[in-house]
Amino acid sequence: MKIICIGRNYAKHIEELANEKPENPVIFLKPDSSVLIKNQPFFIPPFSSDIHYEVEVLVKINKVGKFIDEKFAHKYYDEIGLGIDFTARDIQDNCKKKGLPWEKAKGFDGSAVISNFIPKEKLGDLNNLKFSLHKNNELVQDGNTNAMLWKMDELIAYVSQFFTLKKGDVLFTGTPAGVGKVNENDILLGKIQDQEMFSIKIK
Ligand code: MG
Repeated sequence: MKIICIGRNYAKHIEELANEKPENPVIFLKPDSSVLIKNQPFFIPPFSSDIHYEVEVLVKINKVGKFIDEKFAHKYYDEIGLGIDFTARDIQDNCKKKGLPWEKAKGFDGSAVISNFIPKEKLGDLNNLKFSLHKNNELVQDGNTNAMLWKMDELIAYVSQFFTLKKGDVLFTGTPAGVGKVNENDILLGKIQDQEMFSIKIK
């Protein structure tokens, strides 16, 4: 299974990190070893002093596809989840400055939180889906997929030009504004609409 992540897919998040708005979706991968084991805490790794949470809507791929046409993209997923793209922001900033790849900042062990998945027909319009992240009971990220620069189906079409999508692959669709640092003993609670999707303790 592979994890394909989209960067810079929400305008307000691009602004908060003072990034340039991309011409095409920004893509990076996380290895399968990055998945945080279910019901386990997230341990702040020793190599970073600035780990950020990024809450993201997830799409689980249900069959093999390559060069998928946008109008058929909806046939390649049945389920939606919620995740966190944990990011070592200090390392990422350093990589960006030097023009180096981001893997160390994005693909380390435990950096991919993946919730259980919900059948998409239970969620209504996927292009108008509310989701949120709460840190210690305070709302820190308040997202709606209607603010995505590229919608789920466009992302699947784009990504599948480069990578054959396979059953079980997970697409992270980018984070809205409000990203921030985690500290020991924080609790991160993610929701889609009013449904609790995960609760992660930081250690
Ligand atoms: Mg992200």
